[in-house]
Amino acid sequence: MPKRQPEHDEFADIRAGVRALCAKFPGEYWRALDRERAYPTDFVKALTEAGYLAALIPEDFGGSGLSISAAAAILEEVHASGGNGAACHAQMYIMGTILRHGSDAQKQRYLPKIASGDLRLQAFGVTEPTSGTDTLSLRTTARHEGDHYVINGQKIWTSRAEHSDLMLLLARTTPREQVNKRTDGLSVFLVDMRLAQGTSMTITPIRTMMNHATTQIFFDDLRVPAENMIGEEGKGFRYILSGMNAERILIAAECIGDAKWFIDKATRYAKERVLFERPIGQNQGVQFPIARAYAQMRAAELMVREAARKYEAGGDIGPEANMAKLLAADASWFAADMCVQTHGGFGFAEEYDVERKFRETRLYQVAPISSNMILSYLAEHVLGLPRSY
Ligand SMILES: Cc1cc2nc3c(=O)[nH]c(=O)nc-3n(C[C@H](O)[C@H](O)[C@H](O)COP(=O)(O)OP(=O)(O)OC[C@H]3O[C@@H](n4cnc5c(N)ncnc54)[C@H](O)[C@@H]3O)c2cc1C
Repeated sequence: MPKRQPEHDEFADIRAGVRALCAKFPGEYWRALDRERAYPTDFVKALTEAGYLAALIPEDFGGSGLSISAAAAILEEVHASGGNGAACHAQMYIMGTILRHGSDAQKQRYLPKIASGDLRLQAFGVTEPTSGTDTLSLRTTARHEGDHYVINGQKIWTSRAEHSDLMLLLARTTPREQVNKRTDGLSVFLVDMRLAQGTSMTITPIRTMMNHATTQIFFDDLRVPAENMIGEEGKGFRYILSGMNAERILIAAECIGDAKWFIDKATRYAKERVLFERPIGQNQGVQFPIARAYAQMRAAELMVREAARKYEAGGDIGPEANMAKLLAADASWFAADMCVQTHGGFGFAEEYDVERKFRETRLYQVAPISSNMILSYLAEHVLGLPRSY
């Protein structure tokens, strides 16, 4: 990174540890996987064995009981090192739904194995092809039959489903027209995909712009034991929402990591590349976009830290978690574009990693929540503007 005053960072040791781990997985590693659209199995194994993916699981359940700020530092460093946490970041936070809303028996049964990595809970089945962002219109149903629920329907963009043992699934247990509140009637299930795959559940990979192990899933009379429901029937939407703030903060931290990587890469290149007998970085036309990207990244970083601090203090952090995600995604996307421009033609060459990271960071304008939805939330819930939908 550019010259600056050293700051006190309480996560300096964690950051150094993650950086050392990531150094074993350089650009060539990610490039080869990108070409094949292959899963970074060795990287995920290394992160798991080092305990980083169990950061948020309390020590009583075998995790390290760290704060969300520490978890954010871990994911930020993965991205600032040129890697990508999307293959496994959900292992860190999906379990939060069990931790906050699960029964004691569910916590005892699942959390220690998730902490050790023996169980992978990194598939999150919410989005559907017809409902998209309009989650309350989802159509997948769960019908109560004796001691089971029977699931029918379809999910899309269920990432990492082929690399997960369990999936957290949101399905409708009461028809929409029979509930009093729009947000009632949806329930959350922990689906053991090892038992279901190939019979009542079909997973099909979706090839995407970047290397992202995402899929669509069909459920055809999938039987899930009633004991796998999390919390109360009909209250699932609330449980999912409560987990989304953590997800937004952590993904915002990944965006900050991406922005730092782009700024560092561009700064170094602008100093080294000599044209017209001077480094291109001596031209203000090249300097200013890099400086602007840096300022935007620092501002977004402050919001991510503030959101994490408020999350740790408890209370409503919807506005901060959403603003952190919005600003960090914008900062990483601006930095990505700047980095391509700084590199000129080489920004498009695979071996520089710039084009790969550029494609990867584009996702965060859309997922896990698109920027429009955040603006709409802020307009309506923070500023009191009229409801638009
Ligand atoms: C690679 C990838 C991985 C993903 N992983 C997961 C996952 O693991 N689990 C999961 O459940 N989902 C996942 N998603 C889904 C992701 O959360 C959604 O794509 C995202 O929320 C947007 O929904 P949509 O794609 O259905 O877009 P749509 O809802 O169809 O929206 C299309 C566009 O219209 C805009 N729009 C819609 N309504 C409004 C409005 N009222 N006002 C203004 N603008 C509006 C949106 O902002 C968007 O830009 C993933 C998506 C991708 C691409």
